Amino acid sequence: MAEETVFGKIVSGEIPVEILAETDRVIAFPDINPQAPVHVLVIPKATQYRNVAELAAGDPETLADMVAVAQSLADELADGEFRLIFNSGAGVGQTVFHVHAHVLAGDLKENALV
Ligand code: 5GP
Repeated sequence: MAEETVFGKIVSGEIPVEILAETDRVIAFPDINPQAPVHVLVIPKATQYRNVAELAAGDPETLADMVAVAQSLADELADGEFRLIFNSGAGVGQTVFHVHAHVLAGDLKENALV
């Protein structure tokens, strides 16, 4: 069984977050350490996918849902334009091994950690 991550605890409700968007498959909530004026994380409710390639292979509909939710958030919270970042691997800065999309809008902080 996959090791439980902090995002698994967010999905189960053990760690409370402000839910900004939710579908049957995904939830979105603010990043705890924002790197831009809008910095939201979109994650699948399913906990078994560690990175975007695993999700694309195993459940592409959920990946499409994540992109659609990112666009809705950017429409709601910014001017509709956004960056979508999936870190994949510890060597490029992934720290939580439950696939997640960083949705960023507005100017990134100098030396942003995404
Ligand atoms: P990664 O570096 O794995 O791509 O991104 C993980 C992100 O999760 C980081 O930007 C970090 O700030 C965020 N994060 C880690 N723990 C929590 C948490 O408990 N709550 C929220 N809202 N964000 C978290």
